[in-house]
Amino acid sequence: MARIFNFSAGPAALPVEVLAEAAEEMLDWHGCGMGVMEMSHRGKEFGTILAAAEADLRALLSVPANYKVLFLQGGATQQFAGIPLNLLAGGSADYLVTGSWSKKAFKEAQRVTAGRGAVRLAGSTEAGGFNRVLESSELDLDRGARYLHLCTNETIHGVEVQDDCAGLPTAVPIVADMSSHILSREIDVSRYGLIYAGAQKNIGPSGLVLLIVREDLLGRAAPDLPTVMDYAVMAENGSMLNTPPTFAIYIAGLVFRWLRNLGGLAAMEARNIAKARRLYDYIDGSGFYENRVAPTARSRMNIPFQLQDETLNDAFLAGAREAGLVQLKGHKSVGGMRASIYNAMPLEGVVALIDYMQDFARRKG
Ligand SMILES: *Cc1c(COP(=O)(O)O)cnc(C)c1O
Repeated sequence: MARIFNFSAGPAALPVEVLAEAAEEMLDWHGCGMGVMEMSHRGKEFGTILAAAEADLRALLSVPANYKVLFLQGGATQQFAGIPLNLLAGGSADYLVTGSWSKKAFKEAQRVTAGRGAVRLAGSTEAGGFNRVLESSELDLDRGARYLHLCTNETIHGVEVQDDCAGLPTAVPIVADMSSHILSREIDVSRYGLIYAGAQKNIGPSGLVLLIVREDLLGRAAPDLPTVMDYAVMAENGSMLNTPPTFAIYIAGLVFRWLRNLGGLAAMEARNIAKARRLYDYIDGSGFYENRVAPTARSRMNIPFQLQDETLNDAFLAGAREAGLVQLKGHKSVGGMRASIYNAMPLEGVVALIDYMQDFARRKG
């Protein structure tokens, strides 16, 4: 078996130890004679899997007791609608737009509140090409907003909020799309009213979205909201109003356990800092490649870079594929390359990428 280094932004590489464990248990989970995909979600085996996944996640993030953890479907994109429908309750919300994902969230919130003027743009970096985070001094915040929405790691533009939103006021609940960096670093969950994340970047398979919500924000949904989108109903039913994405939850649970065994988020963050620093330092010093994000806003997870000579892009990608380095093509809206180096990407993968980049620059430079 030959595993390649997969730099996909998502669905992304999973820890090889987790995949091996799942393969071993595929036909017979813990001696029960069936695999996880075949189990009743109401049975005691799956109950054990779900409870362990939630407990491990709570331990990893030190989730306070007054927060619910929900395992939902529909991806982060469905939550772009679900959040305003659950939290607005006739009020209005502020949105920060710092990249493609927060822009999509803003547009969807406008759509589902059609014409009510319930969604305000409180700050944007679009004019500069989404290459930095917003300073608190440039925000136009409404102190009476029901919530303030932002994306703490813009997967496409490679822009990351580094400081747990330290510059933002505490009175308005912060709603954060953490899809592409949750569990990559330590965070203070109590800073947020609601955290959500699609699983396929840093947690597990697609089909699962994780939501961590402060209890006092529940129960504000309009009475005509579809039941499966109502966070309060989902919380009352322990994410099991209907059949949850059982296999995705199981894999996520294995990933949580893997993280705990590695030493938790402090240890993972140290690894991620080392990986990202190595790649940025090489890019900055190369004179051949460049990253155009403001240094203080550079993502540790998604690292876009351009070749100074863009006519070499196809040759770069073809050579990378031959060297066992795949999914490096940048998002079409940014161009160039992007290396996504989530938790599951080992340092050796980053080193292999840098070796290849060095060699390519030497041959073509
Ligand atoms: C991938 C991604 C999404 C969309 O996730 P889906 O699960 O495809 O809906 C939303 N936000 C961010 C930050 C992402 O990286």
